[in-house]
Amino acid sequence: MAENLTKAFQRFDLSNKEMEGIDLETDDVLAGIEECKLTLVGRIMGEKVANLTGVKNYTSHVWGYPRNLQVSELGPNVFQFNFAEEKDKEKALNRRPWVIDNQLLVVKPWSLGIEKSTEAFHESHLWIQVWNLPIHWLSKVVGFKLGQMFSAVKEVIIPPGGGKEGRHMKILAEVDISQPLARGTTVKFNGNPIWVEFSYEKCLDFCYKCGIIGHGDKNCKTTVEKEYNQREEQFGAWMRAGNIMASPLRASRTVEESILEKVEPQKQKRGGYKRK
Ligand SMILES: [Zn+2]
Repeated sequence: MAENLTKAFQRFDLSNKEMEGIDLETDDVLAGIEECKLTLVGRIMGEKVANLTGVKNYTSHVWGYPRNLQVSELGPNVFQFNFAEEKDKEKALNRRPWVIDNQLLVVKPWSLGIEKSTEAFHESHLWIQVWNLPIHWLSKVVGFKLGQMFSAVKEVIIPPGGGKEGRHMKILAEVDISQPLARGTTVKFNGNPIWVEFSYEKCLDFCYKCGIIGHGDKNCKTTVEKEYNQREEQFGAWMRAGNIMASPLRASRTVEESILEKVEPQKQKRGGYKRK
């Protein structure tokens, strides 16, 4: 806001009336603040600019058609959601994360000036799958400990059953999405370390060069740490849960992939981990 004021002073010769301005009292903004208490502000972390109708249709549907939900656009990929009832607002908050067209919609309760802030949207709820755990570690206690990798753990789920890839657990955590997504971590028990892998649910788009949500490889402006520069493919489609791409660390590649690797090693190397 102050920046706009400086620009106006620099750009225009202001008349006395324009200079003098208007003072607002607390009472003048009380009604607005009261209304904003039932407001959520959402920012879509991605390069595709969503349109108001699309966002309105999507949020109305996934939030169970809240009564009198008003959706307004506040800028490119920034939206205001006004609820008639607190319980509907809470439902939308409690069931985060929300993903629209593979882009993360980070939703936060209204606070002063949040609509102009990008930092306010740096923490997002994400569902993280944790793989490569010995089965006796599949417990909520272990899940909450592993969740210390992230800002805050909200929930741990141990899905029953399993599949060809084995079993996993799911952690709902708050994640600093201004940083590269963690690919996994080492976990030590009795001094013996193992590598556990993370993958992220809901097919989120993120950059395969730097691992950060919100832009693609082509528009990556992140200065990649030197250690990453040495090697290609530090991040990739295998980090999207449910993707058919196996992690480069997994020994159990599919037969088809093994054959491809033998026949066309170069092609497979280049194309192996590309998205979609
Ligand atoms: Zn990037």
